[in-house]
Amino acid sequence: MAPIPVVASVEREPVPEGLRKAMVQRIAQLGVKDRIVLDAMLSIPRHAFLEPGMVGQAYIDASLPIGHHQTISQPYIVARMIELMRAGKDLDRVLEVGTGCGYQAAVLSLVSKEVFSIERIRALHDLAKSNLRPLRIANIRLHYGDGCGGLKLIAPFDGIILAAAGIEIPEELLQQLKIGGRLVAPVGGKRQILQLIERISQTEWRSTEIEQCHFVPLRSGVT
Ligand code: SAH
Repeated sequence: MAPIPVVASVEREPVPEGLRKAMVQRIAQLGVKDRIVLDAMLSIPRHAFLEPGMVGQAYIDASLPIGHHQTISQPYIVARMIELMRAGKDLDRVLEVGTGCGYQAAVLSLVSKEVFSIERIRALHDLAKSNLRPLRIANIRLHYGDGCGGLKLIAPFDGIILAAAGIEIPEELLQQLKIGGRLVAPVGGKRQILQLIERISQTEWRSTEIEQCHFVPLRSGVT
């Protein structure tokens, strides 16, 4: 008897694709409308960014540990931040501060021509490299360093996302945003608010508070 195709595909992927669809449906129910972002979330295998022991939880809508006291962000907030940054536009160049395991960078690679992502913990920078390698994504550049300084030589960026919460948004990152560009960042300590910053002119930025959120802290220096 010929093998049943559904079983074959489940064997190839340790996690059934239906779980990823259900995750994206939940993100849409929570209010994310941008089809390009939802499709990107559907394409990237989140389980490929987790340790084998965590794979079973890959498609629940929660942040999960990735070691070094850091987490892979909650899928809903990843999608929401990218939707806010994109505002329906095609992007040429975006910066992510806080690569972690590389998941959000992979999602970003489907909405922007070029993605630059900085991580301050060497072991996580290396982990992201090895997680991303088998996916063969050509438009991501990973940098090891303190992301608070951005990437001066590559700026300006159409969009910037911070995956860690600072008490304030580093001035250098505001300066590296294109005029008309958008930065999305969690801001605060114990209580954090997701902020959207739009650069209006050389000297003006408009800030909008979006919703409460919970991220690991933004730290300076490298380790
Ligand atoms: N983008 C990740 C989330 C990683 S958690 C995802 O796809 O799920 C946030 C990461 O930000 C952590 O790995 C932490 O080490 C890193 N981080 C914190 N402060 C930083 C800084 N100043 N520069 C670069 N990375 C930083």
